[in-house]
Amino acid sequence: MNSIIRKTLGLKSHRVVSVRKSMSEIEIKIERIRRRLLTCGQCGQRSRVRDRLRERRWRHVPLWGIPVTIIYRPARVNCPDCGVKVESIPWAQGKSPLSQPLIVVLATWSRLLAWDVVARLFGVSWSTVRAAVEAAVAYGLANRDIDSVLFIGIDEISRRRMLEMHQNLL
Ligand SMILES: [Zn+2]
Repeated sequence: MNSIIRKTLGLKSHRVVSVRKSMSEIEIKIERIRRRLLTCGQCGQRSRVRDRLRERRWRHVPLWGIPVTIIYRPARVNCPDCGVKVESIPWAQGKSPLSQPLIVVLATWSRLLAWDVVARLFGVSWSTVRAAVEAAVAYGLANRDIDSVLFIGIDEISRRRMLEMHQNLL
């Protein structure tokens, strides 16, 4: 589980602290790895950490049909060139409350299925699907190869549900 999360989030200078299942969701807590330099959000240079910002939460790709939330306190770094900047968070896309993998998955499926079907399939609201499509366009994620992202984060249960839904539509 830990290594799946690490891989899908692209973690190098961050680690998974805990994975907790509450009543309705899986909460993944991320922490930076101590003494590791972090990437400047502006220029990409490795920089020392200056301080931390308030906790942020991101909606991530559901696992086994259960909603997943990522929790992390972003750091500000002292970049030698840019000054004090927020780090580049590997799974974040600007200020979006959706993780980048979730944006890509929702936006990709939205090209193939009706948005309300995508919303049901991933247990998110219609407006979340719309936000993902907008973010994907804004950040140029929409033109990725469909085949390569089609099954990212899509577990067996979701896949089966999707096939059922698809058959019901036929
Ligand atoms: Zn910089």
